[in-house]
Amino acid sequence: MKPELILLRFGEFTLKGKNRLRFEQAVIHYTLDVLRDYPGLRYRKAYGRLYLELNGAPYENVAERLKSVFGIQTFSPVLFCGHDLEVIRAAALSVMDGLSRKPKTFKVTVKRTWKEYPYDSQELNGLIGGPVLRHVEGLTVDVHKPEVELRVEIREDGAYLFSDVIKGAGGYPVGSNGKAMLMLSGGIDSPVAGWLAMRKGLDIEAVHFHSYPFTSERAQQKVKDLALQLAKYTRKVKVHMVPFTEIQTRLNQLGQPNLLITLMRRAMFRITEQLAAKHEAGAVVTGESLGQVASQTLPSLNTIGKVAELPILRPLITMDKDDIIRIAHRIGTYETSILPYEDCCTLFAAKSPSTNPNLRVIERIERSASSWLEEEIRLAVEGTETFWFSQLFDTSVMDQHAGGALPTSPEHQETTTAEPQSIDRFF
Ligand code: ATP
Ligand code: MG
Repeated sequence: MKPELILLRFGEFTLKGKNRLRFEQAVIHYTLDVLRDYPGLRYRKAYGRLYLELNGAPYENVAERLKSVFGIQTFSPVLFCGHDLEVIRAAALSVMDGLSRKPKTFKVTVKRTWKEYPYDSQELNGLIGGPVLRHVEGLTVDVHKPEVELRVEIREDGAYLFSDVIKGAGGYPVGSNGKAMLMLSGGIDSPVAGWLAMRKGLDIEAVHFHSYPFTSERAQQKVKDLALQLAKYTRKVKVHMVPFTEIQTRLNQLGQPNLLITLMRRAMFRITEQLAAKHEAGAVVTGESLGQVASQTLPSLNTIGKVAELPILRPLITMDKDDIIRIAHRIGTYETSILPYEDCCTLFAAKSPSTNPNLRVIERIERSASSWLEEEIRLAVEGTETFWFSQLFDTSVMDQHAGGALPTSPEHQETTTAEPQSIDRFF
């Protein structure tokens, strides 16, 4: 027997009473997009639960995509069958056979909400559990801490059986908490920071600073590849490519090598904030993690962050590198992040950058550069090229600066032409 339904369980947002319906609908809407190439899918709300009816769609493929839908905490394949006891027993064996790992212990939990059924839950436990015990070799019952709990719900319309609980991406539905600009380098950290921010319901637009031709086109491609990977979890990710060569070169000429990274970072924040204003974002997300490098000591973060007016969100601030790497593997960005292309921050890198940059000194240097700095920041914003990446839509360049954007590579163009369908068909 194949699963006909998938039981969806929503994440922490279900706690937020009045927003619950809105968030639920957002997840449903998004799931609909992700699975648009299975037009037979239907949502069914029944007995306070939300099911996805497969109607012939292959469970494995659907499950794979559900794993990247924010807002879905866990899900379970469900067998749905008639009331006949023999059919239910056969379904129970089928659920056990379908488990990814063979358990040593199990228990059956029967919930009988349809009181006209001829057996009560207690009797059913034995009637269903007995054949399972005989069927699976070496299996014993453990009512306290079973490896597997076989759940059987007897409803008026039939029996629902499930056991496997598969972890989803969790969090809040895409875009349900507003929009933020993600400062996206080609490193390990910032894509992870972006993913965590997305999981909190933030719509992300990435900002990348490049110093072409000092940094290569491949370094930019790497950032685009990371954006495409992040786009797996959201409808689309925009990447703003900011030309930073002029600013970086001129800041370097100020002759303050140990303060260069602080000056650069402050310029980056200024530009990011202007882009945020232009694209109506309410925060800036970075991959900074306390103490990781000179620019991420508390005094550095302070001096750099002072330049920003929007809240700076640093999802990794207290995380260990090991944990960050683990997430990078899980979300599929690690392999790209470790490719050896240079980032603009490593250009002109000082041997011993200041770990304690003084705000007043920095502001004085910036004042001395005011004749050109403001103008260069304006030009950088103006010269920014924007790309869209999506695994759902046509990913050709949709919005770009007149100067001509770098083409996205063909593999970015996994397209489908179908229009998003009405949410109504899912109820
Ligand atoms: P990452 O792995 O994200 O590159 P990192 O540990 O290498 O981080 P830094 O290079 O000091 O740390 O950068 C700190 C943060 O500054 C990054 O996480 C990112 O948010 C931002 N950043 C650095 N370089 C760039 C860049 N070229 N474009 C956009 N943002 C950048
Ligand atoms: Mg970096």
